[in-house]
Amino acid sequence: MEIELDKLHEECGVVAVYSHPEAAKLCYLGLHALQHRGQESAGIAASDGHRLTVYKSMGLVADIFGHGVLSKLPGTHAIGHTRYSTAGDSALLNAQPIQVDCNRGQIAIAHNGNIVNAAELRKRFELNGSIFQTSSDTEIVLHLIAQSHETALPDALADALRRIEGAFSFVLATSDHIFAARDPRGFRPLAMGRVPGKDGGPDAMAFASETCAFDLIGAHYERDVKPGELVVVGPEGVHSHFYSPALPQSQCIFEHVYFARPDSLVFGLSVQAARAEMGRQLARESAVDADLVVGVPDSGLTAALGYASESGIPMQFGLVRNHYVGRTFIEPEQRVRDFGVKLKLNPVRQLLAGKRVILIDDSIVRGTTSQKIVRLVRDAGATEVHMRISCPPTTSPCYYGVDTPERRQLIAARKDVEEVREFIGADTLAYLSLEGLRKSCSDDARDSRFCTSCYTGHYPTQYVDLQQIRPMETVVE
Ligand code: SF4
Repeated sequence: MEIELDKLHEECGVVAVYSHPEAAKLCYLGLHALQHRGQESAGIAASDGHRLTVYKSMGLVADIFGHGVLSKLPGTHAIGHTRYSTAGDSALLNAQPIQVDCNRGQIAIAHNGNIVNAAELRKRFELNGSIFQTSSDTEIVLHLIAQSHETALPDALADALRRIEGAFSFVLATSDHIFAARDPRGFRPLAMGRVPGKDGGPDAMAFASETCAFDLIGAHYERDVKPGELVVVGPEGVHSHFYSPALPQSQCIFEHVYFARPDSLVFGLSVQAARAEMGRQLARESAVDADLVVGVPDSGLTAALGYASESGIPMQFGLVRNHYVGRTFIEPEQRVRDFGVKLKLNPVRQLLAGKRVILIDDSIVRGTTSQKIVRLVRDAGATEVHMRISCPPTTSPCYYGVDTPERRQLIAARKDVEEVREFIGADTLAYLSLEGLRKSCSDDARDSRFCTSCYTGHYPTQYVDLQQIRPMETVVE
C-alpha cells in the first residue's frame, strides 16, 4: 500500500555552486538539505570548464549519489535539483537538470515552480516543428532561449524569461557560467550566498531554494535573488540584471506554513519565527479550555509551541512520528483500522489518557488524515479533542508549483468549518484567519506581498491552468 499523509506536496528544490573544487559534492550536500522539497528524483549537472556532465535518477539524494557517481561529475561549478512532479509525468525523462546541446552550446536547467503559459507556448512551438524531449514545463525555457533573436546568452535568457508566466526560480549552467533567476512576482524563494575561499582564495557563489542548504555547505546567506532579477556568475564576476520590473509580489505564504524547513530563512524571514507566531496568533484567535497542547509532527510542532506559550497550556509530545516509513508498505491481510496513519504516527497513551487535548496541525487537505489522527488521540483515551489549524481553510488549488488535489477534493471547498469539524470528529475546530496568517509573517496584517490564492481563490496571474490554458475567470468560482 502507498503510505501518504494527506498533505500538499512540496514542489522542488534547486541549488547551484560556482568556483569551488568540489562543486558537485556541495550541490549533493545542498540537495540533501532540500530533500523535503521533493523525493521523486534528483540530479546534478557539473562543468569542468569545457563540458557539462549530468547525472540524474529516480529516488532519494543519498541513494542516487554514491561516491562513484560524484567522482564522475568533475568541475568547479554545478547545479542540482530535487523533484516532486507538479507538471509532467513522474519519470526519469522529466527528472532535472534538463540538459541540451543547442545553438547556444550546452545548457542545463533546474526549476522550482510552474510555468502557467507553458502549454500554450509548447503548442505554438510544436506547430512550427519543434520536438520536445520531456513533458515538463521547464523545457519550454530552453526552446525560448534557442529561438531568441538575441545574440548573447544572458540576453537570450532574459528574453525567454520575459515570455513565460507563473512561478519560477531557476538555476542554469553552461560550460563556463551559472545563472540564477526569479519570476517577477517572486512566488518561490531563491537565496544567494558565499562559501568563503580558502587561504585568501576567491569565495564560491552558492544559490539554493532555502538557506538550510547553505548551513550544510558552510555558505553565508547574502541576500535573496530579487523578483525579476537574473544573476550571472562567470569568470568576469557576479552581475545582476533585471529582465523585468518587479510586479506586485506573490510570495508563497504556504512556504512559511508548511513547506520550508524551520531552520531556513525564506523570503528573508525565519520560518521558525513565523510558524511559532502562527501558533501564538491561533491561541489569541481561538482559545479553548484544555489540559494539553499536542502538535502533529513534524510541521505542526512549532505552531504548537507558539500556541502553548501564548495560552499557558503545557505542550507535550503526545504523537510520535516514525521517520523510517518508506513510501510503500505491506499491509497485514487482516485490516488494521487507520493502518497507514498508524505506521507514521503513534499516540503516547500515558500522556493523552483522560486529558482534554488541543491538536495543532498545519493544514487539512481532504480531511481523511485529520479524521484518523483525531480518532487515534481519542482511542488513546483523550476526553476531548480540539483541532486548531495554523492557516485558513484550503479552498482552491495551487497553480504555482505546489501539488494540490482538484478543488472538489479539498474538503474546505465543499464544507463549512462546522461540517469539516463533524467529518473529522473533533469537539471543536478552528483555523487561523488570513489576517492572522499575514500578521504572523509580517508586522502588517494587510501586507500584500504574499500569495494566498489557495485560501482565497484569487489568482495573481492571467492564466492559471497548466494543462488546459484558460483564463482565470473560468476557473475561479
Ligand atoms: Fe503558495 Fe497557496 Fe499561492 Fe500556491 S496558491 S503559491 S501554495 S500560497
